[in-house]
Amino acid sequence: MMQPFRIVLASMLLWCAVVCRVQGGALVQPKILEPAEGVFAKGKRSQILVGANLQKTAPQVVSALKPLIAWLGGAKKATPPQSLPDTPYLLVGLTTDHTALQQLRDGWNTKLPMNGLGEEGYLLDITPQHIHLTAERPAGVLYGILYLLSQLESKAYEVGIPAVKLADWATLRWRGMHLLVNGRQDIPALEQLIKEYLPQLRFNQLILEINYNFEYKSHPEIAVQNALTLDDCRHLNAIAKQSFIRIIPMINCLGHQSWAETTYSLLTHHPEFDETPNYPKDNKGIYCRSWCPSHPDLNPILFALFDELIDAFHADAFHVGMDEVFILGKCSRCKGKHNADLFAKAVKEYHQHLVGKRKVEMYLWGDRLLDGIGMKLGEWEASTNDTAPAIDKIPKDIVLCDWHYETPDDFPSLAYLQSKGFRVIPSTWNQIENVKRFTSLALKHQGAKLPGYLATTWASVASVVSRLQGIPQPSIGSGERKKETDLGGAIRLGAKMAWEGR
Ligand SMILES: [Zn+2]
Repeated sequence: MMQPFRIVLASMLLWCAVVCRVQGGALVQPKILEPAEGVFAKGKRSQILVGANLQKTAPQVVSALKPLIAWLGGAKKATPPQSLPDTPYLLVGLTTDHTALQQLRDGWNTKLPMNGLGEEGYLLDITPQHIHLTAERPAGVLYGILYLLSQLESKAYEVGIPAVKLADWATLRWRGMHLLVNGRQDIPALEQLIKEYLPQLRFNQLILEINYNFEYKSHPEIAVQNALTLDDCRHLNAIAKQSFIRIIPMINCLGHQSWAETTYSLLTHHPEFDETPNYPKDNKGIYCRSWCPSHPDLNPILFALFDELIDAFHADAFHVGMDEVFILGKCSRCKGKHNADLFAKAVKEYHQHLVGKRKVEMYLWGDRLLDGIGMKLGEWEASTNDTAPAIDKIPKDIVLCDWHYETPDDFPSLAYLQSKGFRVIPSTWNQIENVKRFTSLALKHQGAKLPGYLATTWASVASVVSRLQGIPQPSIGSGERKKETDLGGAIRLGAKMAWEGR
C-alpha cells in the first residue's frame, strides 16, 4: 500500500530539488508540473522516434536532440511506427506527427490557455516506459528539448528522469534583447548568442543597433571600418531563423550622433546636417550631437540606409532609437519651433517611410514622450526639454520601448503610454531590483498593449556573452553613485519573468 506513495513522494522531492535549483539558477519553471510514479532510467539505449513533420519542417530542432540521445545511450533515430514499442523509447514531434502525441495534446485541453500552447508552448509526459515531447509548432519542441537538457545537468538526474506530466507556454509573446553592434569583430559572439544563449533564455526578438556599422552601398562614405557586410547580415538572419529569433535592425536617429569626443560618421561626412555645427569639434560640454530634423536633404539619405538594412535582414520591423535627444531646435531652420513638433515631425516622417512605404513595424525608445517633471523621472529616462507633447502627434501603431534602469516605487509610464494607445515594451538593464520591480509591475498590465519584455545590455556583444557565462563585471560609477550591477543575472531574471509571467 505504501509503495506507490513512496515512489510519488520520491519523485516529488526530486522534482522539487530540480525546480528549486532552477529558481536559483533563473531557469524557467513550467506552468503546470504534475509528478507521477517511477523514473525513466538513464542510458537504456532507448529507441528514439522523431515525427516526420518535425523532421521536415525543422531539422535543426531534431539536431538539438543530440545530447539527449547520448544521455539515453545513443540509439539511432527513426520515424515512429503507428504502434509504439513496449521497450523504453523517446517520442518527439509535432502534435500532427503521431496519434499518441495528439492524444497527449487533447488530454491537456481543459488546462491550457484559450489559444492553446501557442507558437512556443510544449507538453512533456515522462513515465518509466517513455518520454513523449510534443508542441503545436517547432519552436515549442525546441524549448521542450532545451528544458530537458537544462534538467539533465542536475545531479538529481544521474539515475534517470523522474516521471512527470508537464505543460509550459510563454506568458509574454515578445521577449527580446537589444545589442550594440560595433562591427565584424562581434560576429562570433553574435553567433554564440543566437545559437546558444538566446534560445536558452527563450528570447525570440533581437534588436541589433547597427547604426553606421554596415557596408552601405547607397552611401559608402557613411560606413565605418570593419562594418558588417550584406553576407554577414544574411548569415546572422539565417541562423536567427533557425533559433526562431526575429532580428530587428536599428539606426539610432536624431540624437546620439556622437559619444564623448567621437562624432559619428553621418555627421563627419555630412556636417551640413549637424544641428549645432558651431559647438566644439571635440564635443566638450555636450552629451551627444543631433542631426537637424528640418534639413530637406537628410531623409533621402537616411531612408536609403533604412532600406538597405531592412533588405539585408529581410526585416519586417525597424527600430529608430531616438532616445535622450537633448539638442533640438538650435539651428536657424529649427529655431522658434516647439521641440515637441520637431520631434514629432521626425517620428512621422520615419513612420511614413517605414510603415507607410516599407510596411514594416516601427519601434521607438519611449523616453522623449514622457514628462520627466510630472512623472518625477530623470532627464535621461524622460523628457525635460518639452518633447513630451509629441505623444499626441505621432501614429499609435509605433511600438514604444519604455526603458527605466532605476528602481522607484512605481513606473507610471507603463499605464500612461498604453492609455495613449501605444503598445509598450518594458525595457531593463543591469540591476536585479529594477528588473524585479519593473517587470512585476509590467506583468500586471499584460495584454494586447503590453506584448513583451526587452533586456538592454549596453556592453560589447562578447562581454554580454561572458556575463551570461557568469563572469562578474566591475561595478559602475564611484563613491555614493557606485552600483553593484549584474548584467548576466538581470538578463536571466528578466527572461524568466517574461516567460513565466510571475
Ligand atoms: Zn535644425
